[in-house]
Amino acid sequence: MRIGAHVDSTDPLAEATAREAGAVQFFLADPQGWKAPKPREDAEQLRAADVDLYVHAPYVINVATLNNRIRIPSRKLLLGHAQAAAAIGAKGLIVHGGHVNAGDDLAVGFDNWRKTFAYAADSGGFELPVLIENTAGGDNACARRLDALARLWDAVGDYEVGFCLDTCHAHAGGEELLGLVDRVKAITGRIDLVHANNSKGAFNSGQDRHDNLDGGTIDPELLVAVIRAAGAPVIVETPGGVEGQGADITFLRDRLGAESPTG
Ligand SMILES: [Zn+2]
Repeated sequence: MRIGAHVDSTDPLAEATAREAGAVQFFLADPQGWKAPKPREDAEQLRAADVDLYVHAPYVINVATLNNRIRIPSRKLLLGHAQAAAAIGAKGLIVHGGHVNAGDDLAVGFDNWRKTFAYAADSGGFELPVLIENTAGGDNACARRLDALARLWDAVGDYEVGFCLDTCHAHAGGEELLGLVDRVKAITGRIDLVHANNSKGAFNSGQDRHDNLDGGTIDPELLVAVIRAAGAPVIVETPGGVEGQGADITFLRDRLGAESPTG
């Protein structure tokens, strides 16, 4: 099982080495901005590296919204990131489930997700797996609670789409971690990646505030149980840089019995 971290995008392979990580996740552009990613000069090294790469799409992307001025550029930006992520040999592109505005019909949001995949298919398709991630907050989210996730998968499940399970988001979003993997897989059939994070916010607080694995409001052993059940690669998106994330990776490797550094 590959274990890694979300790292700075300047030199992701050096960040992986510093953490003895078998995988890294990073951004290809400003996560709060609308700029398309530029080609990377280190694309060849990244493709050749024995480190699994994951790309996180910008947070501004919301393909579900009924607001055309957000939804249309979101689709384009997502497709651009998929092309750029494929160019560096990434294993997947992670994107948040998104939401509709208060008073808008969530059913239209799910259909907007379907249209996103249809739009991509018309442009030749996404060149790598797109992994939709569960989110922590909001009353109109497409992937906060599993009842919404089931409706989302009804809309997009016929396309090649994967799922990224964030443990902080699930807990803060109001889903019990005990037995969660089975409940998710009953809907999606798969978990492609786990974002292993503890949560500063309480259960069902709606707060997206990550903590180191032995901190926060989730029993660390419950995190380990979720990760073991998921059987998927793991990325920690925790604070503390090399030291903090390195300790989280070591903690997981000790509990899961994974090989170091790329096992
Ligand atoms: Zn996450």
